[in-house]
Amino acid sequence: GDLSPHDPLVGADLSVLVGGELRRYVDLDAAATTSASAGVARAVQEFLPWYSSVHRGAGVKSQVSSARYDQARETIVRFVGADPATHVGLFPKNTTEGLNQIAFRLGLTRDDVVVSTAVEHHANLLPWRRHAQVRVVDVDRSGTYSVDAVVAALDERPAPRVLAVSGASNVTGWMPDLAGLAAAARARGVLVVVDGAQLVPHRPVDMAALGIDVLVWSGHKMFAPFGAGGMVVDRRLLVGGEPFLVGGGAVKAVSDTEVVWADTPDRDDAGTPNVLGAVALAAAADELMAAGPRNRRHEDLLVHALDAELATVPGLHRLGPTTGDRLPVVSFVLDGMPHEEVAQRLAREHGIGVRNGCFCAHPYLSRLFGLSTAEVQQFHDDARVGRADRLPGAVRVSCSSATPLADVAALGEAL
Ligand code: PMP
Repeated sequence: GDLSPHDPLVGADLSVLVGGELRRYVDLDAAATTSASAGVARAVQEFLPWYSSVHRGAGVKSQVSSARYDQARETIVRFVGADPATHVGLFPKNTTEGLNQIAFRLGLTRDDVVVSTAVEHHANLLPWRRHAQVRVVDVDRSGTYSVDAVVAALDERPAPRVLAVSGASNVTGWMPDLAGLAAAARARGVLVVVDGAQLVPHRPVDMAALGIDVLVWSGHKMFAPFGAGGMVVDRRLLVGGEPFLVGGGAVKAVSDTEVVWADTPDRDDAGTPNVLGAVALAAAADELMAAGPRNRRHEDLLVHALDAELATVPGLHRLGPTTGDRLPVVSFVLDGMPHEEVAQRLAREHGIGVRNGCFCAHPYLSRLFGLSTAEVQQFHDDARVGRADRLPGAVRVSCSSATPLADVAALGEAL
């Protein structure tokens, strides 16, 4: 059928003016942000009258808010296949904040090595670089790497402490063999941190079965609003040490000179939390758990539809793998037309929203384009003097499980 199986999204029926005529807006930018689902919007609406300060007030509203906040923590832990007894759920504002938080919390030093890959979003590269040495596993021209390549990096000396990888690429939709990677890291006593920003909205993740220590993702890519992401962490990693944010709520006692930190999650949750965001994230998690296999079938249809539509466009070159299991995310360039012009004309002339540029993954893009070291250096020098627009870029189309197949057909026709 033509209708997606997921709950309808708020704004799914938005219209835009195209050439003087109103048309249904086609949103093919789900990898950046998805609209809220109707179910999430309902959960927020129902909770709005109740939200209040948590864990501090004695009033009824405060008790309801606290209970819902604690319940949301449990929901997100179970959502990713972890046990609340061994794993704690936190609500960083997004993946970026979560990865910054965990990179800080692991107490890394300049002598520590983190193994990561050339596929990563900047969010899963720069926080590690700030605290430790990053050993980058390279990709081939198709934009993929093997478990063997990661194993070689894990076996290099000095031995690494952390493996930090994305569950799926925001540029190509490619997914590494997460089970194989996690098993190799664990066998060597290396912690496994997964950037789940793209994976979690599309696939069920079982942290316990996979052997993942830390998983981070964003609510705004899985039908919840901005401002609350999820981070599920093995509790043992958060027992000691200073929290990332210090302040009220993170302490047991403060004197003029000393502080006794609270146990996690309070230790890692200073300040008034985003309870509404947590409730929305938990509602989105409940919805995805219920939708699972139906969503998967629909997404596979979207992948096939994208492959078929894009194959008919003359002069279109895709970046990254075009076979195997992928998310419905594709980046490409068109001969003779700059990426920004493609994106602008799709919006203006066809009412289709896509994204263009480098997708916060410059090292990955430079490899997908086969740039030399000298060329990369030239782009850096240009950017330093204010000419960042010279970086090579592409057009990205990305679907969620709520994208109708008709939207992919509309894209094909427009291209
Ligand atoms: N990692 C990946 C793979 C992503 O796609 C994104 C979002 N583009 C992020 C991290 C960062 O997410 P956020 O902007 O929500 O922090």
